[in-house]
Amino acid sequence: MAVSAQDFKQALAQFASGVTVVTTLFNGQRLGLTVSSFSSVSLDPPLVSIGVVKKLYTHTAIEQSGIFAVNVLSMHQLDYGLRFAGLKPDLTDRFAGLETTAAQTGSPLLPGVLCWLDCRVWRAYDGGDHTLFVGEVLATDASGADTPLLYHNRLWRRSESLDVPTLSPTVEIVEVGPRDGWQSETVTVPTDTKVRLIDALSESGLRRLQVASFVNPQRVPQMADADDVCRRITRRPGVVYSGLALNLKGVERAVAAGLGQVDVSLSASETHSQKNAGVSVEAALEQLAPMVQLARAHGLAVRAGIQCAFGCADEGAVEARRVVGLARRLLALGVDELALADSTGMANPQQVRRLVQELRPMSAPVPIVLHLHDTRGMGLANLLSALKSGVHHFDSAFGGLGGCPFIPGATGNIATEDTVHMLEAMGVKTGVDGERVAAVSRAMEALLGRALPGKLYRLNA
Ligand code: ZN
Repeated sequence: MAVSAQDFKQALAQFASGVTVVTTLFNGQRLGLTVSSFSSVSLDPPLVSIGVVKKLYTHTAIEQSGIFAVNVLSMHQLDYGLRFAGLKPDLTDRFAGLETTAAQTGSPLLPGVLCWLDCRVWRAYDGGDHTLFVGEVLATDASGADTPLLYHNRLWRRSESLDVPTLSPTVEIVEVGPRDGWQSETVTVPTDTKVRLIDALSESGLRRLQVASFVNPQRVPQMADADDVCRRITRRPGVVYSGLALNLKGVERAVAAGLGQVDVSLSASETHSQKNAGVSVEAALEQLAPMVQLARAHGLAVRAGIQCAFGCADEGAVEARRVVGLARRLLALGVDELALADSTGMANPQQVRRLVQELRPMSAPVPIVLHLHDTRGMGLANLLSALKSGVHHFDSAFGGLGGCPFIPGATGNIATEDTVHMLEAMGVKTGVDGERVAAVSRAMEALLGRALPGKLYRLNA
């Protein structure tokens, strides 16, 4: 008698694509192995299938005995998964110390599993090097109240229990406060101060600094001294200093300033493009080609950014398809980095994961840089989401400065010292001394006479 469809369904509901141990009893001997090929075949009659490689002795045993049991492991039974996968070479008997039970067929049932299915072989299909055994479920129990152990686990517990690193061991941080931050302030920061603070930042271990924006001083007066700042800062060896350019003239100024990289960008939002750059997205894209060419001809690296990649204050949601299309055209220009900017702080972690996962295979080996604003408090959550999706380059601004003069309500970038703190606490190396950055933030706070959005710089004041 097979189990009822209802009971079978309840057992199947215990897991999605869990790790299972298939066991059998042959000539009085208990045998078992870890398989990932388990699946249900039909509910009524209750049928499941397992794939077993022919050269294994357990294959012979199931073939001969005509019985098997499926044991679905819980997240706390990684040890079973490893021992029945033969990953515990010291163990001669895989069942050593295990109090197994049995139901109808006599196939051993492992203790504490999420559920088990006791099966009689119903059909066997030849799969070349393996056999697909379809079993009729004669008995089942799904009383194990736990979470399954998963192979394709986006949660962290499995990898952590195996001591496999789940995150990149290092992250590169690009300090953008001197550009994104200072250009958003209504008070113009004096050139002397800019030079002093940039020098202090470059002594903190930051290897990437965006120090200026070569824009029309009439439009952004805070950046009128860009060339001066570039000339006067102390260039530390190994540090890449970059500047933003909106047109050919801007690239020429970046070249003249002796920067190592020029950052160009366009917006995914038509409205923002008009407000920010005074041109349509299509026109902006056309302008970029000669800019990239000029920069590269002078040996500068080029980073191309997409602003409002996750949403626009005027237009609302920005379709991922649109961003992907723009990214493809930017990559075709031969840029060295692709930056995605959440200029409006509208991104959420799930959206970040989706877009990054779509873009990464296309952009590789060109790295993706994420530029995150913390407008809605999701900045670091978005960073973590991107990090877990394989992004290793992030923009941040000391003290959480930043904004955009052409986005209503835009607020700061994720704070450099907060970002460094979080990453280092998680064991991800940044090479940056967060406390030194925090000291710069405190100096900035004193200069502006108001608190900055960053958190950490206030702790050790
Ligand atoms: Zn920004």
